[in-house]
Formats: sequence, structure tokens, C-alpha cells
Amino acid sequence: MPRVFSGIQPTGEPHIGNYFGAMRNYVRLGEEFGKNSIYCVVDLHAITNPASFEPALLAQRTFEMAVANFAVGLDPSRVTFFVQSHVPEHQELSWIFTTLTPVGELERMTQYKDKSEQLESVPAGLLMYPALMAADILLYKADTVPVGEDQTQHIELTREIARKFNHAFGETFPEPRAVYNKQALRIPGVDGNGKMGKSKGESSTIGILEPLDAIWQKLRVAPTDPARVRRTDPGNPDVCLIFDYHKLFSGLDTIQTVDAGCRTAGIGCIDCKKTLLAGMTEHLSPIHERAEALKADPDFVRDALAQGAKEARAVARPIMEEVREKVGFLKL
Ligand code: SF4
Repeated sequence: MPRVFSGIQPTGEPHIGNYFGAMRNYVRLGEEFGKNSIYCVVDLHAITNPASFEPALLAQRTFEMAVANFAVGLDPSRVTFFVQSHVPEHQELSWIFTTLTPVGELERMTQYKDKSEQLESVPAGLLMYPALMAADILLYKADTVPVGEDQTQHIELTREIARKFNHAFGETFPEPRAVYNKQALRIPGVDGNGKMGKSKGESSTIGILEPLDAIWQKLRVAPTDPARVRRTDPGNPDVCLIFDYHKLFSGLDTIQTVDAGCRTAGIGCIDCKKTLLAGMTEHLSPIHERAEALKADPDFVRDALAQGAKEARAVARPIMEEVREKVGFLKL
């Protein structure tokens, strides 16, 4: 059976782009592969970039990311879900991988270049990030990695590291393959400035746990078809982000009604947005309710994460023993 690994950044509240692009996919893979779906909130990665790392918020954001994933339907009793820093084998394997990875290859990573350009002093950890990511995946001998397309280079490097290790120490790791969820790429930001989450702040995002009245305030002022100036002007839903959201949250009948109503000026944009809000309310309300129940029972969340770390370590330990032996460390 394939073993799936995915790392989840503890970036605070996830938005609907994360939800449709990644989180729903985690739930689906979890139903298919059970405990062989391994999901990890990557707090060790979060501290590598001083521009976005806030120590006072890290624990809270890590907790909230677990709550959000459980609230959308990820069942911690069916999958393996834990926090990266709770499984120290990630760091141990990462160190071994740094000794196999040329600095030049790490410096070529596009994400490293983008992030390091914005820093006055670049921490070595930011450079080593892809070696830690390779360790995250290979520590479980995972062969399937659901990621965004911006991670292609890192997955390629992971495959390269696996090959290098196997060549140096004998066949140990599979070469994992990335699986992409294309839907993530098509979700526009609510401010109309490209992909959701790409522009700074929360102006472009709709949080999956955001209160519905706050969502409405964003939808109300969201740009629509710019050619539709007056209520009587026919519009083109194909160029409107509100219509893109309808495709995510509304039923087929509503989508068809909106499409026809927009093109014939049969409906106005505010009515169209209200219909969208109704679809969002239906979809997001049960998630909000589950999140509230989880926040009211923090012990459940902490216990689930502790159990997840235990399960992850049970898989990781024998693999690390095999690695230690092959590398030649003294066994006591
Ligand atoms: S009617 Fe709806 S789909 Fe058409 S332009 Fe207005 S908001 Fe967009």
C-alpha cells in the first residue's frame, strides 16, 4: 500500500484555497490509506524564516492548524497526524542528509533565493530547509507526496537525496513522487489580486473558520466582471471570481442560474453574492461548529497529537535504526 506524507505549515488560520487545494485531499487520502496517510504540522520548518516566525504565536498556530484539519473531517484515529518537533528523528535524519547535499544545490532552490533575498542575515537553517523536508518524507519511506506545484524542486531534491543515500549506503529509501491537486491553482483571492493567499495580509483570503459576517464584508466589496458597470449591463461570469467561488460552494442548479442570470443581466451582483454566501454558510457552518467543539476540548486535541506522535515514532524508529547501522554509527 502506498504511504502518503504531507507537511502542513502552522501559518494560522487556513483559507479556502488551502481547504480545496490540500485539506480535502488529506481527508480523501486518509479514507483510502488510513494510518499510512501521515500528516505533520511542520513547526521545525516554520522557525527557519525569521521574517515570518513569531515565537509567541507558534504553539497557538500549531494547535489551530490541528483543530482546522480535524474540523474539516480529518479523523486522527484513522490517519497519523502529529507535530514535527514531537518526533526528534526528523532532525536526526535531516542532519545525515545535510552531509550528502551539496551547498550549491541548496542555494539553487527558488524558494531559498526568494526568501533569502528579503533577509539581511540568512540563517543556515533556511538553506537546509529542503534537507529537512527530504527527511520528513523519507523517515517514513513515504512514496506519495501531495504538494503544491511550488514544491516540485524540493521533491526533486528529495529524490536526489534518496538516490545518493542508496548509492552510498545501500538500497534504503524509495524515490517519492509528488501528486498535485490542480484545483488549488484556480482559486483566486477575494481582493482580485491573483491566487488566494499570494498578496500580503488577510485581504485576499477567506478563512475556513472566519465568521460568516466577516466573510460577507469581503464578498460585498469583492471585484466582479469589470465590464458590468450598471445593473442592466450583461456580465461575463467566466471573468468573475465570485463565479469561481460558486463553482466551489454552490450546487449545479445554482451555478446554471447564476451563469444565465449574469449573462442576461437577470441578476445583480449583490444578489449573486448573497446566493454565494448561502452556499458558503451551508458548507462552512458544520466546520465552524466542529472547530468550536474542538477548541472547547483542548485536551482531546492534545491527546490526539500525542497519540499521533507515538504512532509516527513507531514507524520512524526502525527506519532510523536501519539508517544508523548503514551509516556506520556504533551500536551499544
Ligand atoms: S452577476 Fe455574479 S458572476 Fe456575474 S459579474 Fe456579478 S458577481 Fe460576477
